[in-house]
Amino acid sequence: MVFTGTLAAGWGATAAYAEYRRRRRVRRRERYLEGLRFLLDDNRERALEVFLGLAANDDETIDTHFALGSLYRRRGEVDRAIRVHQHLVARPGLQPRYRDAAMTELARDYIRAGLYDRAEKLLLELADHGGEPAAALAYLVRIAELQHDWPQAAAMHERLSSVGVPEQPGAIAHYYCEMAEAALARRDFDAAREYLRSARGEQEDFGRGAILRGDLARMEGDPQVALQFYRRVVRRDFHLLALVLPRLAEAARQAGDPDVFHDSLRELLQNGVGNRSEIAYAAIVSGYYDDPVILDCVRELLVTDSDLRDLTGALLPAGVEPTEAQLRSVAAALRNVVLRHARYRCSVCGIDSSTFLWQCPGCKSWDTLRAVAALEFLPRAARPGAPSA
Ligand SMILES: [Zn+2]
Repeated sequence: MVFTGTLAAGWGATAAYAEYRRRRRVRRRERYLEGLRFLLDDNRERALEVFLGLAANDDETIDTHFALGSLYRRRGEVDRAIRVHQHLVARPGLQPRYRDAAMTELARDYIRAGLYDRAEKLLLELADHGGEPAAALAYLVRIAELQHDWPQAAAMHERLSSVGVPEQPGAIAHYYCEMAEAALARRDFDAAREYLRSARGEQEDFGRGAILRGDLARMEGDPQVALQFYRRVVRRDFHLLALVLPRLAEAARQAGDPDVFHDSLRELLQNGVGNRSEIAYAAIVSGYYDDPVILDCVRELLVTDSDLRDLTGALLPAGVEPTEAQLRSVAAALRNVVLRHARYRCSVCGIDSSTFLWQCPGCKSWDTLRAVAALEFLPRAARPGAPSA
């Protein structure tokens, strides 16, 4: 009898517990739907309260919270995203993989809010003790780059390679170049030389490094050496011509040898490295076109580019060659047009930029911006794609 009584009591307790769980599930679903309604009604603060209340006592809503947090961040409501992710991180008994993910998301919120020191603290903890140190280290590289803390960015790259991520000598070479540029700006030539040596140690035949070595030589009064570097850059990294042209011209002037400038351009044409339109365009972009050889290239651009041919054809009398003064005026006018448009496009992610940047603002790749090698008069939406020269 005693045994049966105990059994009956046990059954009763089990049934009561099952009923309690069923009601809790129903309540939770109702609260969940209420939260969704608030979200759809754009009452995001109330939605947040409801969802945070659910997270306090329920494992199954974790995915919803991650989705909600990233939704808030994407919409720019970073403070709400931070509250969602802080709530998750603070939950007792959370599985390690969920805690790591919540900490990573919280760090991303902090990066978005510009609270880099807080993000860094979380990510360093994840890099030391988390299950996926590579992801945390990649964000740490990003923070260091955003803050222009180049030694730290290089150190994080080293840690990345220590956890099996392939090395990125190109990125580190750019960090050294950033430091070399800063050293050149304060005329600390020894430091600049040292950084450039380190850049070369990471990446041989490096266009940006060669440009800066030319700059260093020029600043130290050795234009002949500078000319060698610049000429090497345009031969090997023709896409940097717009950056190098004014430097090349200045070094030739400093060396008292203007012919060397023309020889460099002729060499590019003879070896088929670039064509006249590309040289003309680089010259227009760089603002350095007051030179007979370049004006010759501009003349050819006016003939070969269909938009420009129609335009200049309408302005100049038929059969009359434009004079140098007219070409200069056209080049100056084109420069005004070009400066108002995106002149560079990332070859990796396709983002446009009106200025030349070594690091793409979109995908953060280094040295992937290329001059858009034609003048684009059409509105961006109407363009058929990246045009060729
Ligand atoms: Zn990009």
